[in-house]
Amino acid sequence: MDLFYQTCREHGLKITPQREQIYKEICRSAKHPTADQVYRAVKRRISSITLDTVSRTLHLFVKAGLVISVESYGTARRYDPNVQPHHHLHCTECGGIMDFEYRPFDRITAPAQVAGDFEVSRTRVVVSGICANCKKKQKRKVR
Ligand SMILES: [Zn+2]
Ligand SMILES: [Zn+2]
Repeated sequence: MDLFYQTCREHGLKITPQREQIYKEICRSAKHPTADQVYRAVKRRISSITLDTVSRTLHLFVKAGLVISVESYGTARRYDPNVQPHHHLHCTECGGIMDFEYRPFDRITAPAQVAGDFEVSRTRVVVSGICANCKKKQKRKVR
């Protein structure tokens, strides 16, 4: 949470119990949750919170560099509390996104013909496939 308080102070974000809970929830989840998932989890502790508040707070967090808005496949925007260079495993079955680290991938840069008009903020390798859980489920179905 030190990073949270420090970043809030640096960006002049007021620290409120709601914001603390929202940030904690993203960190706890490890699943790159959507605003809606964060909202539903935080609502159990702060019943007065609205989805709109959560969405706006997440947007503020992104601007402050506290979380990253990561690729979402199809549906809602998803958020990542890990702002260090890392890469993603994406399960095409359950939509799960898991972090992994691999130094050689950190050095990948966007080619010049891409980086011309497009302002590159980060590059990340996404490995798509089927996670262990979904593989287990598939095996069960086959039998
Ligand atoms: Zn899966
Ligand atoms: Zn991640």
